[in-house]
Amino acid sequence: MSGPVKEDVLAALSGITDPAKGKDIVSAGMVSGLVVKNGAVGFALEVDPARGAALEPLRKAAEDAVKGLDGVTSVTAVLTAHSSEPGAAPQAVAPKGPPPNLGLAKEGDKPIPTSKDTGPIDGIARIIAVGSGKGGVGKSTVSANIALALAAQGKKVGLLDADVYGPSQPRMLGVSGRPSTPDGKTILPLRNYGVTVMSMGFMLEDDQSVVWRGPMLMSALQQMLRQVQWGKLDYLIVDLPPGTGDVQLTLSQKTQVDGAIIVSTPQDVALIDAKKAIDMFSKLKVPLLGMIENMSTYVCPNCDHEAHIFGHGGAKDEAEKLGIPFLGEIPLDIDIRLSSDGGTPIVVSKPKSPQAARFREIAASLIDATSTVPA
Ligand code: ADP
Repeated sequence: MSGPVKEDVLAALSGITDPAKGKDIVSAGMVSGLVVKNGAVGFALEVDPARGAALEPLRKAAEDAVKGLDGVTSVTAVLTAHSSEPGAAPQAVAPKGPPPNLGLAKEGDKPIPTSKDTGPIDGIARIIAVGSGKGGVGKSTVSANIALALAAQGKKVGLLDADVYGPSQPRMLGVSGRPSTPDGKTILPLRNYGVTVMSMGFMLEDDQSVVWRGPMLMSALQQMLRQVQWGKLDYLIVDLPPGTGDVQLTLSQKTQVDGAIIVSTPQDVALIDAKKAIDMFSKLKVPLLGMIENMSTYVCPNCDHEAHIFGHGGAKDEAEKLGIPFLGEIPLDIDIRLSSDGGTPIVVSKPKSPQAARFREIAASLIDATSTVPA
């Protein structure tokens, strides 16, 4: 039996009206990530997070409408927050459930061959990796804000949180719940503030602690690159784990990384580690797009006095010595911390702030630096 095709599903869904919009859910542009395979159907309904739970009946009605089609064997519909409105409530409202495990390899397994497991990824124009020599320098904060700043400049952006030691993007981007696997073969990612996000953290049960290594790490990374429905992206930003390990190696061997950014604080010790990361990317033949100095200066919110808590300018000097671009300085700033840790990074929560402007300038330099990569 052949089962329905996408058009059949869309026709069924266009019979469902969102009362708040007075339009059917297809013409209201709410249906995304539709997959139809051998009778299994999956899709997301992109909704205003403020309406979250109230839309459960709409989700159920959409699911039931598709279930009624001939040849449908299973239907998964998830509600996903989709808003690029500054200051909008953060939560993506995908249901909490088991991780979207498509069968991760275990220690001792042979690598799982997939039909295509190296080279560029369909639909993704550019991959930019964000690395650091050591942890805690703000690599995830910078990745999130750069992703949002690129989206604010009209780019289609995905953010892959590959930081196996501390996946923090779901929290920073205010997404909770789990991505789903409508057909057991592909993963529907979550989305917030106009950025599509997938995280290593989604691949584990909440209380599961795992030492990621070897085949398991490789298969998790491969799944996140190739089995996630990223859609068409201008940029996929990859938030790497700190240091120079298996993820960096696998990523650059298994796909084409168009450039790497290194985040460092001004301290010597962080810079020494940053140099090792730079060296690794050079050896892996990944072009270095530049360095960012984070927690650069501290401006006292009471008296505007500027203090250089971790020193100042070290990353800029180092970038000059190494002959790589210096992309900018981000101050040590309470609003940057509160906004990222609270799930509304500063680029969306305070777009008019000078800190948000810094991130947008860096994003603009990245657009320039990667403009030669054909979309
Ligand atoms: P990494 O990914 O390098 O481990 P994170 O991005 O998780 O680092 O940042 C570590 C902590 O430092 C977080 O609590 C984050 O909010 C905070 N932080 C990062 N950058 C800044 C900054 N420029 N000003 C203030 N706090 C920051």
